Amino acid sequence: MSFDMSNSAPPTFAGGVASGVRAVADRAQNVCVIGAGAAGLTAIKNLRESGFGVDCYERETGVGGAWNWRHDRSPVYATTHLISSKPFTQFPDFPMPDSWPDYPHHTQVLAYLERYADHFTLREHIWFGTEVTRVQPAEDGCWDVTISGARGGGAERTQRYAAVVVANGHNWSPNMPSYEGQSDFAGEIIHASAYKDPAQLRGRRVLVVGAGNTGCDIAVDAAQQAARCWHSSRRGYWYAPKFAYGRPADQVNDLVSSLRLPLWLRQRLLQRTLKRTVGDLTRFGLPEPDHKLLETHPIANSQLIYYLGHGSITPVPDVLRFTRDSVELADGRVIEPDLVVLATGYLPRFEFLAPELLNVDAEGRPRLYLHAFSPAYPTLAVAGLLQPDSGVFSLMHWQSVAMATWLRLREQAPERAAAYWRKHHHQFNERYNKAKVMQSTRHWFEVSHVDYLRGLQKALTEMEGAHA
Ligand SMILES: Cc1cc2nc3c(=O)[nH]c(=O)nc-3n(C[C@H](O)[C@H](O)[C@H](O)COP(=O)(O)OP(=O)(O)OC[C@H]3O[C@@H](n4cnc5c(N)ncnc54)[C@H](O)[C@@H]3O)c2cc1C
Repeated sequence: MSFDMSNSAPPTFAGGVASGVRAVADRAQNVCVIGAGAAGLTAIKNLRESGFGVDCYERETGVGGAWNWRHDRSPVYATTHLISSKPFTQFPDFPMPDSWPDYPHHTQVLAYLERYADHFTLREHIWFGTEVTRVQPAEDGCWDVTISGARGGGAERTQRYAAVVVANGHNWSPNMPSYEGQSDFAGEIIHASAYKDPAQLRGRRVLVVGAGNTGCDIAVDAAQQAARCWHSSRRGYWYAPKFAYGRPADQVNDLVSSLRLPLWLRQRLLQRTLKRTVGDLTRFGLPEPDHKLLETHPIANSQLIYYLGHGSITPVPDVLRFTRDSVELADGRVIEPDLVVLATGYLPRFEFLAPELLNVDAEGRPRLYLHAFSPAYPTLAVAGLLQPDSGVFSLMHWQSVAMATWLRLREQAPERAAAYWRKHHHQFNERYNKAKVMQSTRHWFEVSHVDYLRGLQKALTEMEGAHA
């Protein structure tokens, strides 16, 4: 396998109709990137900067992935703002404008990703409206990638690539719980992925299930629009405000992290800060957190507490069952919503890959080295499969730098690359988090951004050393 540095070579064919085998266009000097959201864009950029030819396939007609709310699978709603602040979200080599607020609106995040694509001239490497339907291993560590027009349109075509970077996102396939009696319920039940605009809540009696960031945002929208809002959470959480001491909360957290205090002391300091600023939430009927701070994904929402304090949101426990006209709760209460919004998160889905290629375990979780590299297939990687305690773009950036460095090492020093792989490929159980993070699908990819970046830095240093 050798890579094309110019990306200008026309495809050749590794099989032919004449021989009775389906034609496979040979792009085996190039890398295939699947998806042009934030992870795919930075993968194209960093692979190109390392000299690789890249073909990216994107099923939608524009870049931005999740942040492009016109896309049919976008999880963002009209009121979505970043929950990680600007400096902790942006790519390290492409700052967001100084004039933008600390927590930009989703339309600004999309504009940012579009400017990133234009600035680094990435669009010419992207085939829009093209869906990857199958990825299969081929000879010499290469991959046969089958594409067609998005949503089943157009004929299928298969192309061979030296390597594949999957950047298809993990916030689009709803995690749908099922409750007893749900199908008999006369009201409407939707997943948060179908929630787009507060107008959907206007004048209704709304039950929001789930206290992740999306659930809290929708409860806040409902507090302002709905006739009634109940917010169901399974346990007590730590609700951080978006600002503390006049600064975005993630910047305060990072300042405390930089002191390199032991975890227990950091937890105690941050918990005390929350107790002093947010106060005792059991006063509002919320349960006491049953875990320490940093053991669940951070919730950043200043308005939830405000509307709880105004009585516009009624906190309730877990849903037990539905009847035709009501919902029965774990504490025996019965409520009568006419709209239930299940903000119960998303699950990763790789429709075009056999599960064993990503070392998917019995629960459905891919087990990858550095949350990125397939342990059995060194030329297959996933970008962006992360849930950090901070913004994710800079982690995606360094992930794709590591992917480019790895592919270059394989080409230039195959024996040293093989030695590196023997040493590391089985390290797919690393957690990159000192805190004892709760076991649940919501936390499958939870990492501390500091610990994860250290892990990537270590890998990069070792790979670069192996180049020498
Ligand atoms: C409500 C909400 C708020 C969030 N807030 C923040 C925040 O404050 N900070 C932060 O850093 N992150 C936040 N995130 C996380 C967010 O998902 C990431 O910021 C980022 O958008 C993920 O990028 P991605 O490229 O991995 O995936 P996506 O943005 O989902 O992009 C994947 C792309 O792949 C394409 N694709 C998928 N399958 C195929 C296929 N088979 N063939 C071709 N193309 C395909 C899709 O069309 C899409 O364009 C938030 C997420 C949600 C849901």
